[in-house]
Amino acid sequence: MAECLFCAIVAGEIPATTVLETDRILAFRDISPQAPTHVLVIPKTHYPDVAALAAADAALLGEVIGAVQQVAAADAVAETGYRVVFNTGAGAGQIVPHVHAHLLGGRSLTWPPG
Ligand code: AMP
Ligand code: ZN
Repeated sequence: MAECLFCAIVAGEIPATTVLETDRILAFRDISPQAPTHVLVIPKTHYPDVAALAAADAALLGEVIGAVQQVAAADAVAETGYRVVFNTGAGAGQIVPHVHAHLLGGRSLTWPPG
């Protein structure tokens, strides 16, 4: 079993509801959704956070964002509006140390968030 929760999902050791998969990207529904659409988009390769991913492979970060837009379109929230969040570091609420984009949509999203 992979030590990292999201690496374990990539390895198929923990089940997830996958909505998009490429050779380098996986997108799956958050187990505790905060909006009608709440999908996590991750690179299959482990990077601890978005800063590490940006520094190591900017093209892969671009693929993550492209996948976010694809899932948003498939879930019909691309036109109504959606939010993309990379919690980075414990102080920002990052619990899982494998970079992930939260895609949130399908309801009114206030700004600033609470
Ligand atoms: P963060 O707080 O930014 O690290 O986000 C981690 C997210 O992972 C949370 O929104 C959790 O609800 C979600 N999560 C935790 N375990 C699972 C799982 N097994 N499958 C899908 N999402 C999960
Ligand atoms: Zn990982």
